[in-house]
Amino acid sequence: MPADPDPATALIVVDVQNDFCPGGALAVPEGDAVVPVINALARRFATVVLTQDWHPADHLSFASQHPGRAPFETVEMPYGPQVLWPDHCVRGTPGAALHPGLDIPHAAMIQRKGLRREVDSYSAFLEADRATRTGLDGWLAARGIRAVVVCGLATDFCVAWTALDARRFGFAAGVVEEACRAIDTGGSLARAWADMAAAGVRRIARAAEL
Ligand SMILES: [Zn+2]
Repeated sequence: MPADPDPATALIVVDVQNDFCPGGALAVPEGDAVVPVINALARRFATVVLTQDWHPADHLSFASQHPGRAPFETVEMPYGPQVLWPDHCVRGTPGAALHPGLDIPHAAMIQRKGLRREVDSYSAFLEADRATRTGLDGWLAARGIRAVVVCGLATDFCVAWTALDARRFGFAAGVVEEACRAIDTGGSLARAWADMAAAGVRRIARAAEL
């Protein structure tokens, strides 16, 4: 077993929720395959943050709120392009619940995101308007955290945006590839890895390389 990561490194487990797993409303292929990998990974970190996509039922990232539009089309929002999704992770529903196999009892906090109807939030740090902070950066900094390792669902959206924003807020960041799965629509996965590489996010193929 490799040495535990430095105590100043936190693990961020992104959106391992029923709706992103097979059978869910916005299932990521093999999404549930990350659960045992993440459970083992999390045991090596003293500080673990879980994130939870948590939308009102009429959230504007839902294609159902845009007459004539279909899921996976892109529309222009005041803050820029927005991919439209099937209704997913409606707050308080079973689909929004964390996957029941997730076993991380020492997780210190759950960062919910996407709570405002008008603005999506792939990132755990900054909403899609690129202005509204969730407060996670301050929470981590106050605990002496200087680096984050990101895993979960989906690689090319919420994981990538979270890792990129971690860099924006001055944290070192890495993504564990075997602890993520992607949606990969319209070349999004290749683009996400390129963006992350350009921002200095470390690509970690396997947890054993940490
Ligand atoms: Zn969402």
